[in-house]
Amino acid sequence: MFNLILFGPPGSGKGTQSEKLIARYGLKHLSTGDLLRSEISQQTPLGLEAKKIMDKGQLVPDEVVIGMISSALDGNPDAKGFLFDGFPRTDKQAEALDKLLDLKKTSIAVMLALNVSEEELVKRLVKRGETSGRSDDSNEGVIRARIAEYNSKTAAVAEYYKKFDKVVLVKGEGSVDDIFGGLCGEIDKRID
Ligand code: ADP
Repeated sequence: MFNLILFGPPGSGKGTQSEKLIARYGLKHLSTGDLLRSEISQQTPLGLEAKKIMDKGQLVPDEVVIGMISSALDGNPDAKGFLFDGFPRTDKQAEALDKLLDLKKTSIAVMLALNVSEEELVKRLVKRGETSGRSDDSNEGVIRARIAEYNSKTAAVAEYYKKFDKVVLVKGEGSVDDIFGGLCGEIDKRID
């Protein structure tokens, strides 16, 4: 199995690059943001609770996302590997993920961290908000709150994986194809 974390702040291009990466490497895409938005569109109790938090730009509770990831891992026993997008976002989530993968006798091969300046992030998210229909993209205050949440809670997750020498910084500005090339170069060094 080859398991990879695509890491970076909101607007760093994780969703766009994930789609291209799963197509090339045949990995199963696990995006906690997508899983949560699917709960919202089905109007489940979990989705309705999560929406209130997401619309403030805050993180939903660890237990909720860990539960979703645990079910998704169990639900895909034949996957060649997983691409984690938007997860883990806290140290607690990172520890839980390691345990879940350990139970499956596998682990994270690498964390690829997209590097994008804050001004570029805000610009991209405001633009995405004009068409995406995502309520958390439609207001610059919420966008800045998400970036603040990233800086205060999520950036530290890279430190967690640095201890295991698993973090590689990749250029996240430029053309989509150039960034994809940078990511693939790092994966090809590590995948069988
Ligand atoms: P972005 O990273 O562009 O903000 P996501 O789709 O990854 O978009 O996440 C949208 C929102 O969903 C986050 O702001 C947060 O409220 C919630 N969310 C997604 N993943 C997690 C997670 N792993 N832990 C807590 N909250 C999460």
